[in-house]
Amino acid sequence: ERAKLAKLRRLPAVTTDGEPVELQANLEIPAELPLIAQAGAQGIGLLRTEFLFMNREDLPDEEAQTQAYAEVLEAMGSDPVTIRVLDWGGEKDMEALSQGIAPTHAGPNPALGLRGLRLLLKRPELLEAQFAAILRVADRGNVRILLPLVTNPSEVKEARDIYEKVAKRLKRKGVHVPEKLPELGVMIETPGAALAADAIALEADFFAIGTNDLAMYTLAVDRAEAEVSHLYDPLHPAVLRLMQFATEAALRLRMPVSVCGEMAGNPRLVPLLLGLGIRSLSMNASAIPRVKQAVRALDIGDCARFARRVMEQSDPQRIHELVMEFGAGAE
Ligand code: PEP
Ligand code: MG
Repeated sequence: ERAKLAKLRRLPAVTTDGEPVELQANLEIPAELPLIAQAGAQGIGLLRTEFLFMNREDLPDEEAQTQAYAEVLEAMGSDPVTIRVLDWGGEKDMEALSQGIAPTHAGPNPALGLRGLRLLLKRPELLEAQFAAILRVADRGNVRILLPLVTNPSEVKEARDIYEKVAKRLKRKGVHVPEKLPELGVMIETPGAALAADAIALEADFFAIGTNDLAMYTLAVDRAEAEVSHLYDPLHPAVLRLMQFATEAALRLRMPVSVCGEMAGNPRLVPLLLGLGIRSLSMNASAIPRVKQAVRALDIGDCARFARRVMEQSDPQRIHELVMEFGAGAE
């Protein structure tokens, strides 16, 4: 079994009818970089940058960030790397936050408060430093930038204005910045963003659907709260319908769309995701071999028919049954 999975590393992630599927890794700390090559990932679909801000009492400056991004880009060569800017707030508490260096006002409901891009737009110097650090090393690899916790097209516009201003400033200083700036994408991880995906798509270069938060915000179930974890379900029809709406908005514009929540690493859910039109999945590196194995056994026509059946259902239990049945048939 191990040998079989190891052999998979060199085989392409293509369906039986020849449709290529991009399988990428989510990365939380640079120490995981060697795992990516071992797993046979085609780049990093989600580089969470929170590690740079954790376990410290001050904020990392532009230079420290530049070094960290350079290390990742150099390790990845020409493979694509999607760097997500700081997703701070909510349950993701950090030292500097409690030290008062960054806003400490958690508010009555932190998950609904100053989290992700909202915080960065309130403290634009954080966003500017991160954009600048990424732009400084952009020509050393194949990089894209991702914005977390978006709900409104105007937030994306505001972030892009800052991005372009930072690029201009760097050029004035004589720093080499790519003529065409790296793409700026949006996490679709709130119901608001999913249902406004057609409007947000006009401001974005790509979408990454974050099913972890999308399920949490859609179902009003805290992803870290054990008492209600039985209600946390990315296969709930409400979550799937939001994913479908956002995916279709992207596909209509021929804009890249991927799924990067935990769901993407579950081989049993691959038929549904492919059937919804997704062709790019980002997951824990360790999940890649099994997901690749699943992709290589699937036919896109079958996946599309299966997804249509699933999307006709409104009972979460029935959806779970359909997913299990499909998986059993394939094995
Ligand atoms: C998500 O919300 O699905 C996601 C990928 O982001 P994170 O888990 O870092 O919040
Ligand atoms: Mg998220």
